[in-house]
Amino acid sequence: MSDASSPTQSDLRTPIVAVLGHVDHGKTSLLDKIRGSTVIEGEAGAITQHIGATAVPLDVVSEVAGSLIDPTEFDLPGLLFIDTPGHHAFTTLRARGGALADIAILVVDVNDGFQPQTKEAVSILQDSQTPFVVAANKVDTIPGWNPNPDSPIRPTYEEQSDRVRGDLDDKLYEIIGELSDAGFSSDLYWRVQNFRANIGVIPVSAETGEGVPDVLTVLMGLSQRYMKEEMEVDVTGPGAGTVLEVKEEQGFGTTLDVILYDGTVAEDDTIVVGAKNEPIVTTVRALLKPRELSEIRTEKRFDQVDSIAAASGIKIAAPDLEDAMAGAPVQVVRDRDTQDVIEAVTAEMAEVAVETDED
Ligand code: GDP
Repeated sequence: MSDASSPTQSDLRTPIVAVLGHVDHGKTSLLDKIRGSTVIEGEAGAITQHIGATAVPLDVVSEVAGSLIDPTEFDLPGLLFIDTPGHHAFTTLRARGGALADIAILVVDVNDGFQPQTKEAVSILQDSQTPFVVAANKVDTIPGWNPNPDSPIRPTYEEQSDRVRGDLDDKLYEIIGELSDAGFSSDLYWRVQNFRANIGVIPVSAETGEGVPDVLTVLMGLSQRYMKEEMEVDVTGPGAGTVLEVKEEQGFGTTLDVILYDGTVAEDDTIVVGAKNEPIVTTVRALLKPRELSEIRTEKRFDQVDSIAAASGIKIAAPDLEDAMAGAPVQVVRDRDTQDVIEAVTAEMAEVAVETDED
């Protein structure tokens, strides 16, 4: 049970972060920027690529955030970003009847403001009671904007000319107004005292990276302050996760890409997986992670691990997975009664099936 991606804190897991927003508002760009700006080659605690997700450890958040953050205030291990943005992924990925994501970033193009999918995303976040922050993206496109790449946004915002800042303020207040119409009180994040009562709006540019340190800081702070109790899990207990994708993989047959949100999964564990008909009961043959970057070119795409703890993204190879479904629950049986676990998975599947029918 000693894999490098296991959290060092034995009882606090990484919060899972989803990115939502209207098409072309910059969800993918923001995720790419977060991944890119936090790769510190060769240094301890660099980001790690998971299956379907990216882990940004606390060390990296504090490195990127600089003076914005005091790492001693935090004991959560970092943030796990789901790589697939958009509200389809958000609604299909469920965990025990709620959202798989613990927290979300709503990306809004400052020029475009609220669009149909922005409104949908807000109501989805509202229904699932998922805490979120707003990334008011593309600030670099404000005419006359003086960029400050990869820097915290507040000093940059204050250094703009009065006209540019006024222009941005007008656009930000429109977003704040739309949020208010949707029933959310919000403000520029540095004016927010209580992130539970008020949504923090963070001006960013996924292009220049300004504001990205602030996004990481606010997500970390929000998780630490308001979600710590939910992050207290028995990371050595039987694993629970959600299937992202069912995929054929050469040499492994049908595999499951899974986001694990609780406990641990290990090789040879018996697992119960939600499927089209009856749940599948099978045994884990291999646990696969994306291969670490290396100088040596190789055909091998995965590294095998003995076990992995939440929160993480992992590929599970096991027999009989052909009928498994995206969005379905996966549970490790361990020392529980298999029949009880089958019943729990069946109950969760009722909800998954309904969602799929609606698509
Ligand atoms: P998604 O559909 O929400 O994932 O949006 P994308 O990330 O694909 O971005 C849509 C377009 O907007 C792309 O051409 C991006 O290069 C561009 N874009 C995204 N973020 C920014 C930004 O902060 N500034 C500028 N200037 N362009 C951006």
